[in-house]
Amino acid sequence: MFNGTMNTRRRPLWKAILSRSIHTPEALPEFLGTSMPEVREVIRRYPMRINPYYLALIEQKGDPIYKQCIPDLREIRDERGMEDPLNEEGSSPVPGLTHRYPDRVLFLVSSRCAMYCRFCNRKRKVGTPFMVSRESIREGIRYIRKHKEIRDVLLSGGDPLLLENRELHAVLTELRAISHVEIIRIGTRVPCTLPQRVTQRLANMLKRFHPIYVHTHFNHPREITPQAALACRRLADAGIPLGCQTVLLKGVNDDIVTINTLMQRLLTIRVRPYYLFQADLAKGTAHFWTPLSKGLAIMEGLQGHTSGLCVPQFAVDLPGGGGKVPLLPQYVKGARESGLVIKNYQGEQYLYPFQESAFPHSGERSPT
Ligand SMILES: *Cc1c(COP(=O)(O)O)cnc(C)c1O
Ligand code: SF4
Repeated sequence: MFNGTMNTRRRPLWKAILSRSIHTPEALPEFLGTSMPEVREVIRRYPMRINPYYLALIEQKGDPIYKQCIPDLREIRDERGMEDPLNEEGSSPVPGLTHRYPDRVLFLVSSRCAMYCRFCNRKRKVGTPFMVSRESIREGIRYIRKHKEIRDVLLSGGDPLLLENRELHAVLTELRAISHVEIIRIGTRVPCTLPQRVTQRLANMLKRFHPIYVHTHFNHPREITPQAALACRRLADAGIPLGCQTVLLKGVNDDIVTINTLMQRLLTIRVRPYYLFQADLAKGTAHFWTPLSKGLAIMEGLQGHTSGLCVPQFAVDLPGGGGKVPLLPQYVKGARESGLVIKNYQGEQYLYPFQESAFPHSGERSPT
């Protein structure tokens, strides 16, 4: 599709691919059998964008790739989800910047993405002009400069890597000029949804701003293609540690085999699993929600059964703005006079001696 007959000499390949994205139901391939009136109704509220690279990963209607990108009527029928489940706007001192934790901020620098994920927790805003502006970026940088406690800036959006190289370069240059900013992180789904965006030129540019970390976002083993592997190799070869933030999604990846395979494959492309997120309670996404017990069961299915490097932290971002909290399967089974009873990954119980028997079931210790 993208051979030498297209004039891409001046325009990079990723822009050519992006410009051929599908935004209307009429442009969807017929074999998907998608209901056009339904899609039309949904995209009036939540835009659709599927670039031809990601579209080609769909094998059949309703598969895990299809579910992530094709609009579903349940998005506009959802009565349980919330508009701003994490209360990001409530912890925003300036628009587009969330300062919830003491030493780090979430800074939105782009409102566009290489595709619009149907489960997105910012779906009320992505792809709209209300998310980010030149002015909000300027104000965000001013805020970071003023607040010396900020040592870690996490760029997000939208997708920061949908900025032009020169725009991203300008933001990074400003941030690097602030002496208290120790590390810069980029949260991006581009290595998964439009890996062609990770050009050698981009990698060469990013490495001038070290220490840079990239958190990418893969949800299914079928997203790990040769193109995605090349994108990650370019970043890793530029000395950028790569992490992955996977979202647990019903019907997409909510089983042990899928997550286990995904985590193992991520390591083969030099990406270290970082978080496995409980899906946020965002409006229009309820059909993707899983019970917390599902995530805990998946974590038990990973820990001990495969390399520790494959095991992310299972985290829930508390509704209302409480922040991220890691959840762990319960390995401590009880307390005896002689110690704690702890089970291993195979469910066998062991006694760990020399513990105060009251721990951990006595609740809070009273101060002495
Ligand atoms: C997720 C998040 C961060 C980064 O959290 P880490 O646990 O350090 O990766 C920072 N600020 C906000 C508002 C976030 O949602
Ligand atoms: S790439 Fe990220 S921000 Fe963009 S639509 Fe997908 S989940 Fe949302």
